[in-house]
Amino acid sequence: MRVLSQMAQGRQGSVPKTPDFLFVSGNPALDFVNTRPLLRGQPVELLNDFAAVLRWFVAAKFLDQKAAAKVRERWANTAQAQAFWRQLLALREQLRRAILSIESGGAASERMLRTLNRLLAQHPLPAQLVFSKGILKKEHRFDPRKPPDFFAPLLNAAADLFTRFDPRRLRQCESCVLHFHDATKNATRRWCSMKLCGNRAKAAKYVARHRLQSPRTS
Ligand SMILES: [Zn+2]
Repeated sequence: MRVLSQMAQGRQGSVPKTPDFLFVSGNPALDFVNTRPLLRGQPVELLNDFAAVLRWFVAAKFLDQKAAAKVRERWANTAQAQAFWRQLLALREQLRRAILSIESGGAASERMLRTLNRLLAQHPLPAQLVFSKGILKKEHRFDPRKPPDFFAPLLNAAADLFTRFDPRRLRQCESCVLHFHDATKNATRRWCSMKLCGNRAKAAKYVARHRLQSPRTS
């Protein structure tokens, strides 16, 4: 993953670069919340305009480059795209608050649920039946024509997150701000990713232990 080397470079003292998007959480709505990570202790906004939102949707495999390019050509730099982008970031912060609340033993607020229900009613995600390798499957149809259409798959993922996932397994990484759903057998996941935070934490622990055990030389 390119982001790993970029984040590592940032830590080693070169100019920090904006990391790529991370998909480590196990749910797209949670990955969406993770689009404001920390870099050198500072929050970094990865969705800094509507074009970045389109890039995230492509990276999240909600739509392909060609479809994204079509939407970008038609809508980028419009007031509608700008308004949608602001609403989307506001939704992300509401989701973050709900997730933090769940992680500390609480629940999503009534206000959050009202917002989600209003948006779900306004932006439904239609189902369709498609043949895949000779088997008929039910899939969601996502064919965005205008910026607010992009709410639909995120809301669907958020609804899944709040209803189908075990809230006791929603967790924040022990070393950074990223959230994830722990799908391990024994619920022992501690980090957003072993490469990003796990190895670093283990290395720090090893150094600390080694220092403690080493005889003093002076
Ligand atoms: Zn982490």
